Amino acid sequence: MTTNNPTVVLVYQRTSLPWVFESAERAGIDLVLVPRPDEPVSGALPPAVVDVLPLDLDADRAGALETLRKHHGTNPFQGIVTLYDPAVPFVAEAAELLGLPGIGRDAALGAQDKRLMRERLSEAGLNVPRFVRLNGPGEWEAAKELTFPVVVKPATGFSSLGVTKAETPETLEAVVEEVRQICATKLGGVDGLVVEEYLDGPEFAVESLAHGGEVRILSIGYKGDPEGPHFEESVYRAPAALPEDVQEDIRREVAAAHRALGVTDGPTHTELRLRGGVTPYLLELGARIGGSGVSHYIASHVTGVDFAAQALRIAAGLAPESTGDGSPAPVGAAANYIVPCGGFGRITAIHGLDELRNDPRVDHVVQMLFPGDVVRPYPDFTGYPAFVLSRHTDIAEAEEFHRLLERSVRIDYAPATDAS
Ligand code: ADP
Repeated sequence: MTTNNPTVVLVYQRTSLPWVFESAERAGIDLVLVPRPDEPVSGALPPAVVDVLPLDLDADRAGALETLRKHHGTNPFQGIVTLYDPAVPFVAEAAELLGLPGIGRDAALGAQDKRLMRERLSEAGLNVPRFVRLNGPGEWEAAKELTFPVVVKPATGFSSLGVTKAETPETLEAVVEEVRQICATKLGGVDGLVVEEYLDGPEFAVESLAHGGEVRILSIGYKGDPEGPHFEESVYRAPAALPEDVQEDIRREVAAAHRALGVTDGPTHTELRLRGGVTPYLLELGARIGGSGVSHYIASHVTGVDFAAQALRIAAGLAPESTGDGSPAPVGAAANYIVPCGGFGRITAIHGLDELRNDPRVDHVVQMLFPGDVVRPYPDFTGYPAFVLSRHTDIAEAEEFHRLLERSVRIDYAPATDAS
């Protein structure tokens, strides 16, 4: 099917999460979907998808770039994006190679590699916890000089995989070894680690849109106060109830981080902690829409701005539509409740989830795990059982709703008899 719409290649997007496809349709942008290797596309295509182009970024990166170049030669496209963090450098490289809009490979690497990110933020004078990079096996003693507790993490990890707190110098060696195991088994052999001081304070996520170096902060949301030792995601509620001066400090720090990392265009998802409850310290800035699109759901309901549509416009080389200046005043509240595994073994029942599908506050129940699936114990990570995405008049209502879900959604397990 050919239209006169601009075309954007969308890399490794989960088709079960509808938002970016719906936004593309609203924005009049056609998508060429590069399916995730674990999610081949069959049957009806998601909205706005006009073509499917399988690529294997991990097994054959050069071949994937070549396939894109050839496709661009016969069916030119105007942009390329991803919401999948590990693919951000590939997308930036492809855009650079094909002369398409993008942030460039160097900025993409800085936004993905936690060692580079920490160094670049620190050089720019931003708030950064003291940290040590561990380049090879056996190197962990240098990190004993940090103030404990510390957090050990893979340099290029994602989804909190392997991120682990070490309470004391005596436990550090074992924690480093555990994180290295996860790198080997779950992260395709990532070998660099970062050890950094634990930031004590509540966590927040910030959704922003950059264009031509101008950064517009759309929303700031509360992400709980996870204390470790492993950092499962739990809630996301926006707009966060924070004093205006703290919000202003967050906006300033986040905008400065974009400049420090050279992220001039496109959507970003920043996570930070308020050290001591007041001072923003960035955990990371992702050069993409967060949560495979959950960040779009949150930011667009909080602000009324179609976040993913603006992001796709920027990817296609178009200016974002004028939706006002500065940080938009909230028009509502939105939330994501991440159902905790709450145990491990073979799932026998999930209680309280189906009822939510008819709850007027709930827009989506995105279920990833089902009865029969096996949840392995931490530090192994099987995935999140489900997301419950909801809308509210204000954050207090969202909080109340989440308290209800804590009581009503529950998973039963039987011991798993095999390792599947
Ligand atoms: P990933 O990219 O794998 O998600 P992050 O660096 O964002 O890794 O860490 C995942 C989670 O671990 C964070 O959301 C936060 O809750 C926790 N975390 C990471 N680093 C620190 C730190 N220095 N202090 C406190 N918590 C941290």
